[in-house]
Amino acid sequence: MSTARIPFGEPEQIADELVERFRSTVGRDPIGCFVAPGRVNLIGEHVDYNNGKCLPMALPHATYTALAPRDDRQVRITSLQQQETWEGQVDELGPDDVDGWVAYVAGVAWAMQADGIALPGLDIVVDSRVPVGAGLSSSAALECSVALGLCAVAGLDVDHELRRRLVNACMRAETEVAGAPTGGMDQMIALFAEADHALLLDCRDWSTQQVAWAPAAHDVELLVVDTRASHSLNDGGYRARRSDCDEAARVLGVESLREVSDAEAALGVLDGRIRRRARHVFTEMARVEEAVGQLRSSDYSGLGHSFDASHVSLRDDFEVSCPELDLVVETAGQHGALGARMTGGGFGGSAIALVPSESVDQVSDAVAAGFAENGWPDPGFLLGRPSEGARQVR
Ligand code: ADP
Ligand code: MG
Repeated sequence: MSTARIPFGEPEQIADELVERFRSTVGRDPIGCFVAPGRVNLIGEHVDYNNGKCLPMALPHATYTALAPRDDRQVRITSLQQQETWEGQVDELGPDDVDGWVAYVAGVAWAMQADGIALPGLDIVVDSRVPVGAGLSSSAALECSVALGLCAVAGLDVDHELRRRLVNACMRAETEVAGAPTGGMDQMIALFAEADHALLLDCRDWSTQQVAWAPAAHDVELLVVDTRASHSLNDGGYRARRSDCDEAARVLGVESLREVSDAEAALGVLDGRIRRRARHVFTEMARVEEAVGQLRSSDYSGLGHSFDASHVSLRDDFEVSCPELDLVVETAGQHGALGARMTGGGFGGSAIALVPSESVDQVSDAVAAGFAENGWPDPGFLLGRPSEGARQVR
């Protein structure tokens, strides 16, 4: 038996179907169809807001936006993942005007206007292949596909500089309009990903480096497991971890934990929970550097060990794992994975396992069986093949 994988589809075909859907819903042609990917973070978890580095890569699973300007000031937003079309005005898309899923779309238009990009009324229809709420960043995929579409509406050429502005606009939409704290990694990878690469992202100065990573060419796969356990970044857990890190930095007299040069000495000053939180951040920052070297030298058993160590640190020091994530990691290790870890914010969401290609089915089946034994809902599986960033498809 081999466990089914969550399909991601052919971008051109999904775009064509969405254009058709736009025509039948709106009654005219869209100006184009724009896509932005979901992501997994290979390593470097909970370091973004400590000004550290992380190493995300884009998934083939992506969100698609078809849109067209209107002659009036009206905005109509439809998602094929939602029941009702939302209607509003282009001047009323901010924090006081919208909430729920619409905030991730309208909020982008609001933030781009705040950044000086004038927009007319709009018809927007979106469709997605990114599992929602799985820690695979369906939210940034949605924001960034919309942002790229809005640039086309505004007649702007999307160069590197504008992409950076879009990252900020999408972050503002998520933080200020949707009300969900976000560190910016998700938007950066959605807008700057390259196929067959991970993105080394320095969250201190937002500099980036592409790191070649084509697992299938080396007979390994990155198996992504959506545990379907409720991951709730909107809840207090994420904020509490952030404030623990802020507290550690305050005690150490630094602006962020990234500024600490002697981690050993710093840990000697801290104690209890705050010390454990800081220890995760320090060791995780070191593991990111190691992982980049391991990727560059195709040292996959080394990379697997880095994944394992990251998970232990997130589980024990940062305390953001959960039984479902722990089961995936443990089971994967017992069935041939080179290493595994939770990925994303934690408290549910997804885990990743680095698996020799020939063992992928075995690992998937064992994880699925483990979930069934516990009476948990079936997990979702997909292969993380490093994919392209946001672009126009049609
Ligand atoms: P994640 O980004 O890990 O999937 P989030 O909680 O950050 O989880 O974002 C999920 C939210 O984003 C959904 O609850 C919904 O409000 C919004 N969203 C994502 N994709 C879509 C979509 N295709 N249509 C409508 N809303 C979406
Ligand atoms: Mg998200």
